[in-house]
Amino acid sequence: MSVTWALPFKEKIIPELGKERTVDPEEYRRIHQESLKDIEAFWSNVARELEWFKPWDKVLVADPQPPFYKWFVGGKLNASYLALDRHVKGGRKNKVAIIWEGEPVDQNGNPLEVRKLTYYDLWREVNRLAYVLKNKFGLKKGDTIGIYLPMIPELPIAMLAAARLGVIFTVVFSGFTAQALADRLNDAEAKLVITADGGYRRGRVIRLKDIVDKALEQSPTVKNVIVYRRVGLNDVNMVKGRDYWWHELMSDVPMNTYVEPEPVESEHPLYILYTSGTTGKPKGIVHDTGGYMVLLHATMKWVFDAREDDIHFCTADIGWVTGHSYIVFGPLLEGMTTIMYEGAPDYPNPDRWWAIVERYGATILYTSPTGIRTLMRFGDDWVKKHDLSTIRLMHSVGEPINPEAWRWLWKLAGREKVPFGSTWWMTETGGILISHAPGLALVPLKPGTNGPPLPGVDADVVDDNGNPVQPGQRGYLVIKRPWPGMLLTIWKDPDRYVKTYWSKFPGMFYAGDYAVKDEDGYLWILGRADEVIKVAGHRLGTYELESALIQHPAVAEAAVVGVPDQVKGEVPVAYVVLRQGYQPSEQLKAELNNKVRELVGPIATLSNIFFVTKLPKTRSGKIMRRLVKAVVTGQPLGDVTTLEDEASVEEVKRAYEEFK
Ligand code: ATP
Ligand code: MG
Repeated sequence: MSVTWALPFKEKIIPELGKERTVDPEEYRRIHQESLKDIEAFWSNVARELEWFKPWDKVLVADPQPPFYKWFVGGKLNASYLALDRHVKGGRKNKVAIIWEGEPVDQNGNPLEVRKLTYYDLWREVNRLAYVLKNKFGLKKGDTIGIYLPMIPELPIAMLAAARLGVIFTVVFSGFTAQALADRLNDAEAKLVITADGGYRRGRVIRLKDIVDKALEQSPTVKNVIVYRRVGLNDVNMVKGRDYWWHELMSDVPMNTYVEPEPVESEHPLYILYTSGTTGKPKGIVHDTGGYMVLLHATMKWVFDAREDDIHFCTADIGWVTGHSYIVFGPLLEGMTTIMYEGAPDYPNPDRWWAIVERYGATILYTSPTGIRTLMRFGDDWVKKHDLSTIRLMHSVGEPINPEAWRWLWKLAGREKVPFGSTWWMTETGGILISHAPGLALVPLKPGTNGPPLPGVDADVVDDNGNPVQPGQRGYLVIKRPWPGMLLTIWKDPDRYVKTYWSKFPGMFYAGDYAVKDEDGYLWILGRADEVIKVAGHRLGTYELESALIQHPAVAEAAVVGVPDQVKGEVPVAYVVLRQGYQPSEQLKAELNNKVRELVGPIATLSNIFFVTKLPKTRSGKIMRRLVKAVVTGQPLGDVTTLEDEASVEEVKRAYEEFK
């Protein structure tokens, strides 16, 4: 019995835009290999395009030894200066930096609140808040603070104000519970928290300050809280001497306040960010300043083809790394206009994103498979209602994008002509490492692929012994050399840093993802390495089976896990969410199984298919297969702090119990 590929490795699509820089994979390979000849020279050429207060002495140093790499050692810079001052001084003073819209709408469905902040507006607010942090709270370089704000402009303002002082910040996603917040504040030893009275999500007010109060019962390092009045709640508990209103603190800070940006060493931590927690306990990832800025600058140019008149719309939440890098720092570094919105993609209707694209003329769309699959369920009309013709480039991130979901968005939003990639990276990498590069040299698209590694990035797929696999064979994704933007360490846990990323294959960064490299050198991430299903000696990535299921018109989403089997070792079991208008039935199950057998091979026959209305996901929207697996194998659930909706696990359990 053999295993085939359900993935369209051979399909090649040449997008219309970007034609001027389209190259064939062979030529791209040459560009890539050239970049790897001397990565230090290669990356310092990129770094020179930024403004440094002091140039670096050494490009790359292992200090005290590998894998503790430091980039651009001796160099000094400031992220807030690069994102703001440069543009204010350099002709973008009155250009819109941030377009923001709040969630509440009027009876016609139009947003009640829209704010457009120019670079000058943003620069002033950042300076004023930096003044408050420095002079009223005595914060200084190297201190840490927590930021627990909804998606409002004060969130990037807080990040940039901290960065201006060299204060290390940790943003905690505003959908997290008091416990999850307390865990992160404690781990980071935050001295202060910036929050709001509340925020809107799907028509509800989330009372953030109440959650902070609860978290602070267990977070002794936090001495002060700054509260921004977002919603206007009038029963907010303010602890005297500890809690202060943002507007009161700022009321006597003049508009023309200037706070000198602290020139920090390249390796000075800019922020700590906890991973999504898809596979277990979140890790406190520490990012430097210099390398991170360099990778963002490179990827904004290569991957997003950043241009002066772009309106950049990344649909992520700033609580995740995608938002840090590609809503805040990346676009602002390039002097672009970046969109942020409060709320959810399916509220008040499943066309929130499309309405935003149309309202502000977004030219770049950066989104996620989970968002796309969710919206696919509601059908095409919600997309077709809007004029999306301004979009000239799209990318996705977060999980593998199933070819079916790719085609759907490419057709409807991309008009079957714009470049559309799936950018692979992780919190740890700081920015995109594997992706199509329309701004540099675009290779033909294939639905569902991540594309080739970016220049300067030595990514490969290796077997259990760390040897490169042949094209078409499955293996583990590794990065064989350091890259700028890479994590410095795990906060306060260097041993875990070494163990998690650098021990499986000595000398290589182990990403924890399962992958294949095709004959053109494109990488396809097949899911998490620890979620691989081993059927009769064959290893299959969850993505392969799930993508086969999604090819059936009834299926919106699927999660496949392996359960132990006496004969085959493991057999796959699927949990399936149907699109609107389809009902579960025995016949549908048979059809779905046929689809998988036809596309992947008889070996992949699903031993069971369960229909549910939702899958367990992290708060960032990723499928938590480990929870599904725990249910079907009768194991404890483990860490569930990042789970979005407990009811989803109950549904998975119920479906399984009924079957038993
Ligand atoms: P944790 O590490 O806590 O389990 P997490 O891995 O989900 O959480 P992130 O850093 O947010 O935390 O996600 C990185 C992971 O997301 C990658 O390791 C990969 O599995 C997946 N991923 C991101 N982008 C892509 C993509 N374009 N294609 C495939 N997988 C992707
Ligand atoms: Mg991870």
